Amino acid sequence: MEKTVRIEAFLHQDLTQEEQAFLNQAVEASKQSHAPYSEFYVGCSVSHQNGKLILGSNQENASFPSGLCAERVALFESAKTLDANKVMELAVYARSTKYEVPQMLVPCAGCLQVISDIQNRQKAPIKIWMWDGGDTVYRAQDAGQFLPFHFELHKK
Ligand SMILES: [Zn+2]
Repeated sequence: MEKTVRIEAFLHQDLTQEEQAFLNQAVEASKQSHAPYSEFYVGCSVSHQNGKLILGSNQENASFPSGLCAERVALFESAKTLDANKVMELAVYARSTKYEVPQMLVPCAGCLQVISDIQNRQKAPIKIWMWDGGDTVYRAQDAGQFLPFHFELHKK
């Protein structure tokens, strides 16, 4: 079995105004991050079929496992109205004074599972934009580029 991954790379300056604005919303979301432990501030913007935008930021907790990633903070809000309003695209951005931000800021495996599950529920892909704030922006057509196999339940 073989899987081919396709990730597109763009220069930020070549993106449309709408695309840049979408990424900027992820930057805005990162300002609401609560990350006193990692000092890794993540923002996520999620666009919907009807134009609605949901923002999320990572929320750390003194009890570490109780925290949550920016993507899931936004996506669980998005999922509440999924039946009437599909998720179209997701942008993730991060900055940190403590760690290097990966140039291609791939969501963690837990978030990829959630994105993948929402794709299955809505029967439509979710484009994933990844930006470290630099010149290059990356985009994947769906979570399957990073998570070709995912956990799924089917009723008997
Ligand atoms: Zn995550």
